[in-house]
Amino acid sequence: MNIIKKKSFKILRWIIIFILIFPSFSYMQMAAPPANISSGINPSSGWITSTYGEPRPPGKPHTGIDIGIRREDLPPDVSVSKEGYIMEIGGDAIRGTYVKIKNRDGTISTYCHLDGTPTTIKRDYQIGEGYYVGPGATICKMDCTGHSSCNHLHYTIQDEYSYFLNPADYLGM
Ligand SMILES: [Zn+2]
Repeated sequence: MNIIKKKSFKILRWIIIFILIFPSFSYMQMAAPPANISSGINPSSGWITSTYGEPRPPGKPHTGIDIGIRREDLPPDVSVSKEGYIMEIGGDAIRGTYVKIKNRDGTISTYCHLDGTPTTIKRDYQIGEGYYVGPGATICKMDCTGHSSCNHLHYTIQDEYSYFLNPADYLGM
């Protein structure tokens, strides 16, 4: 009799532990990045020269992918990968000239190290903040503005919580 009581207490203890742990599991699943992210077209010709998550000298993992070309190749066009609205056409010392697009699926794409300045992009490609751009629309040419040693496109995708996703998962490259 005593043994049966001890056994059922052990089972009850496991049930209590499970009840306490289970809600945190379901919370973790809710916090995961959204699964309904659409795939996009390749934003430029060339090939991946640096992958997402690759360790970088300053100790920060690579937030996106780099699409590069051979030194002798002419810089190709940079096109919209996923349709959306232009949030920002800007420039800084790290990203160089960049275009940031709020994609229709809720993610944000940023195209970095672009040719020219925000002013020349707006003038030459007839685009601006708030404009809708469809997949394949040309927004600039590849270049090496900002912190970059050679012509390449640094392309990132962020989810609604600003978490960087692996763009290669949505490009089929
Ligand atoms: Zn990069």
